[in-house]
Amino acid sequence: MNRSARKARKDLSADSLFRLIRSRFDDLPDARAGVPEISLGDALMSAFAMFSLKDPSLLAFDKRRHDPNDNFRTLYGIQRVACDTQLRTILDPFSPDPLRPMFQDVFRRLQRGKAMERFVYLDGHYLLSLDGTTYFSSSKVHCPACLEKRHRGGGVTYSHQLLGATLVHPDLKEVIPLAPEPIVNQDGHTKNDCERNATRRWLKKFRQDHPHLPVIVIEDALSANAPHLDDLGEARAHYIIGVKPGDHAFLFEHLRADDEAGQTQTLTLDDSATGVLHHFRIHHGVSLNESHPDCLVNVLEYWEIHPPKIVKKVERVGKLQYFSWITDFALTQDNVEAIMRGGRARWKIENETFNTLKNQGYNFEHNYGHGEQNLSVVLAMLMMLVFLVDQSQQLSCPLFQAAWKKQGHNKRSLWEAMRNLFESFVFASMQELYEAIVSGITRQPPVLLNSS
Ligand SMILES: [Zn+2]
Repeated sequence: MNRSARKARKDLSADSLFRLIRSRFDDLPDARAGVPEISLGDALMSAFAMFSLKDPSLLAFDKRRHDPNDNFRTLYGIQRVACDTQLRTILDPFSPDPLRPMFQDVFRRLQRGKAMERFVYLDGHYLLSLDGTTYFSSSKVHCPACLEKRHRGGGVTYSHQLLGATLVHPDLKEVIPLAPEPIVNQDGHTKNDCERNATRRWLKKFRQDHPHLPVIVIEDALSANAPHLDDLGEARAHYIIGVKPGDHAFLFEHLRADDEAGQTQTLTLDDSATGVLHHFRIHHGVSLNESHPDCLVNVLEYWEIHPPKIVKKVERVGKLQYFSWITDFALTQDNVEAIMRGGRARWKIENETFNTLKNQGYNFEHNYGHGEQNLSVVLAMLMMLVFLVDQSQQLSCPLFQAAWKKQGHNKRSLWEAMRNLFESFVFASMQELYEAIVSGITRQPPVLLNSS
């Protein structure tokens, strides 16, 4: 490996990425008067450390605040760790917008380290999965930014959602989140914000942040509408978007008529290794719906047919799955399989992103603190930033990969091992901590405090 490749790889280590984030936090202007007890950078980095260690609550994090090992300073660069109340007080009025460029900073490192090359999918494009998710819901706790759902019988459900945006590849477990867009009620608006508006805002910001990144947006059937396709065109994004017979009756009526008139192309691929048949039907230039007859799309229908299986000497009918997508790609025999796999990779934003955040130790749906202004959104953005840093290491850092492997490729075990070592030993770097996980630590008798 040459020197610049070694440096690029080192730039994707935890120590280097933490330093990068820390320096960006320090560059942010602090709007508070005087010399505050805890700097804004320390407060932001404290929250970052909380999510990095996967503490389940602000209280759990607060308990380790007086860490005698000084690991907060050496590993996270925090001079003074904020207590839970300070964290809430400092971060609630902080606008989350300045956190967006930090996602770009990490992304640029991934590009420089050539880690993104593995994500290139079709004709030099990346697959970009967009989807909204709810991460907070309560009938009591709320803030002015909360979405509100009023119930008929009285009572209100308050919630926060965000639009996640993740670069994915069908063959990769890792996903690369770009800055998410909060779905929140803005000042003075009486109507709830929604995923559609958030997507429109997101696309505009995305093209400002990444003017030349070639992408294919992959989304579910809710996004198969003409105004959104216009937005995608304006953002110079290709698309592969799911459609359903129930939601797009007009479109499917045309597909049926095309088929009856013999105006479709079909292709069947036989996977001899598994016995699975892949059957494709192609339509070009179909009107999306009645109200937008000029909005023409290409449609790929796909049947996945599994062979019959013998279960307990009884032959079971093989599984049949059907999918359909609209796309702006001209469909050919050569690309239908790639379009199909690209369309199906949309699930990665749910399985590898939201479900990982919810179920693999990140505690995405825990209420770490709601605040009266921005706290809920700021904390969700910081958690996503930590997730990006973790995914970057998983993709490119051999030491992180070795530590994860040592823990049986179980994320919860890895986080637990990290927390245990963080609490018990003095480390000069994350590298040392991961090395301790990989190699283990020599057992020795305890050295008691105050022993004389
Ligand atoms: Zn709220």
